[in-house]
Order: sequence, then structure tokens, then C-alpha cells
Amino acid sequence: MTARIIDGRIIAADIRKEVARDVAALKAKGIMPGLAAVVVGDDPASQTYVANKERACREVGIYTEIHRIDSSVSQDGLLDLIESLNRANRVHGILVQLPLPPHIEEHAIIECVRPDKDADGFHPLNIGHLAIGDSQFVPATPFGVMEMLRREGVHLGGKHAVIVGRSNIVGKPIATAWMQGDPQFFPRVTVCHRTDPNLAEVTKQADILVVAVGIPEVITAEMVKPGAVVIDVGINHIEDKSLKRGYKIVGDVDFDAVSEVASAITPVPGGVGPMTVAMLLRNTVSAAKAQIEQA
Ligand code: NDP
Repeated sequence: MTARIIDGRIIAADIRKEVARDVAALKAKGIMPGLAAVVVGDDPASQTYVANKERACREVGIYTEIHRIDSSVSQDGLLDLIESLNRANRVHGILVQLPLPPHIEEHAIIECVRPDKDADGFHPLNIGHLAIGDSQFVPATPFGVMEMLRREGVHLGGKHAVIVGRSNIVGKPIATAWMQGDPQFFPRVTVCHRTDPNLAEVTKQADILVVAVGIPEVITAEMVKPGAVVIDVGINHIEDKSLKRGYKIVGDVDFDAVSEVASAITPVPGGVGPMTVAMLLRNTVSAAKAQIEQA
């Protein structure tokens, strides 16, 4: 079997067009949706992610401001910045690029973001809403995974989904959202972690396999059920001196080998990554609409 490629770039481009139409409609009413991004330190990956998000916002007409902060910033200094963005009328969505330097308490920063401006959906209140099936914002990567499956027509009802990785930003919110859904339309969920003794036995039972661990090509063909749909969230930089930039990007799934077993698979790059950016735009516009309705 050779798997169908689920092309995140194409699906994300469709979503960006829809968002651009929504932005144009808001602008026609005199409202300019705005996103503020905060990035602390000079981690190259974080800088690249934020630059991509800024470009995507510009392309759909969302106002953006990027706050590039030195890594020596104090926790109070960062909290003050978030508070000022919470108050700013031009800003409807706020994202704080993670990870933060070790001297900053990530929880305190996430909790400081006004929940109705929480475009990343990481605030405990928004995670709580997700957990009771009443979500305001779904974190962008989980939202992207779910939306790409929906738009690809992957039927989840009655299926078994295995999620490898249980981080707060990827694995847990996907599992949480699927657990809340109507079983007619949502899968039974198993979540795996680092010390799972029989990982392959569990992954082999998955109709839908979502992998978000951050280990290059850790999921091999032998770990995948024939015909499974495989979503690879991982982004890993591997040294490759044959390339000008000196590295290549691979996922957590051995793409070539698993493509021979799965029925559908996302590539890395070009799979979940573009969806994450598209759903951040979607969340920003939703935030703007909600704030205007409340005003
Ligand atoms: P974290 O490091 O926060 O979490 C990794 C999770 O994987 C943990 O739950 C950990 O288990 C689990 N894990 C680690 N090793 C194994 C293993 N050998 N077997 C099974 N489970 C394991 O990572 P993130 O969730 O933030 O990111 C995961 C990957 O996804 C990264 O490559 C990241 O770059 C990428 N990513 C991609 C995004 C995109 O837009 N495409 C967005 C966000 C992340 P335990 O809890 O037991 O420690």
C-alpha cells in the first residue's frame, strides 16, 4: 500500500483564504483584527516560527506586532508587557512563543494572558472549556490536526486513535477534545508517553495514529497498523552537511517506510506545521469577533 499524502500546505492555504475573507468583512465594518506575538531570547527555531506567523498574518490582512524581548527580561517585566497587551484595543489575540527561558515561570505567563485574547488556547480557563466540551479556543496545533482530518474526510467515529506524546500543547488537548466529542463522530483515545513499556503494541492498534514526541523517525513501519491514518506532528532538525543550511527537517515518523503501510500520512515539513499557523489566524479572527460582540 502506498499512503495518500495529506498535504497540510494545500489545506492551510484554503483556510487562509477563508480567514482573509473574514478579515475583509471585519475591515468593512471598521474593525482590524490584531495579533501580538511575544518572543523571548534568540532561539533560532522560535524566531523562525514567529516570523512565519507574522508573514501569514500580513498575508491575510491581520494587524501584527512582534515583541522581541531579550532573554534577560525579568518575570515581572514580561508580565507587565502581557498586561499592556491585555489592555490594548488594537490587539485581539496574544501569543507567547514557547519555550521561555528557565528563569521565567511559563505557567505564570500563560495565566496572565487575558483568556479572551488567548489565541494559542493555552490558558487554563480555555483548556478547562475544552475539557468540558465547550471550547472557546482550541490550541493551534491540535486544532490544525483535527481540522485537517475533517477536511480530508477521515471518519473518526468508532475508530481507535492513539496519540503518542502528552504535552500540554499537543497530545493532551487533542485527547481532551476527542474524549469530549460525540462517540458517533469522535474516536476512542489512548495516550502514550515516554515510559510506555509496549509502545509498538499500542500503536499497532491505532486506526488514527498521532505522533508528537520530538524524536526523529521514532515510529517505524512495524509499529503501524496497515491502513492507519498517520499524523506526524514532530519537527526535528537533523544535521545534513550536503545541504547549504547544514540540516534537514524530519518528523517523528519514518515517512518512507510508514508510507508503505499507512493509508494516509502527513509529511514533514508540509503537514501539520502549516496547519498550526492557519489555525492561529483562525483563532485571532474568532477572538476579534467575540470581543466586538462583547463590547
Ligand atoms: P514535549 O517534549 O513537550 O512532549 C513530548 C511528549 O512525548 C511527552 O509527553 C513525552 O512523554 C513523550 N515522549 C517522549 N519520548 C517518547 C518515547 N520514546 N515514546 C513515547 N512517548 C515519548 O514536546 P511537544 O509536544 O511540545 O512537541 C512534540 C514534537 O512536536 C516536537 O518535535 C515539536 O517540535 C513538534 N511540534 C510541532 C508543532 C507543529 O506545528 N507541527 C507544534 C508543536 C510541537 P512524557 O510525558 O512521559 O515525558
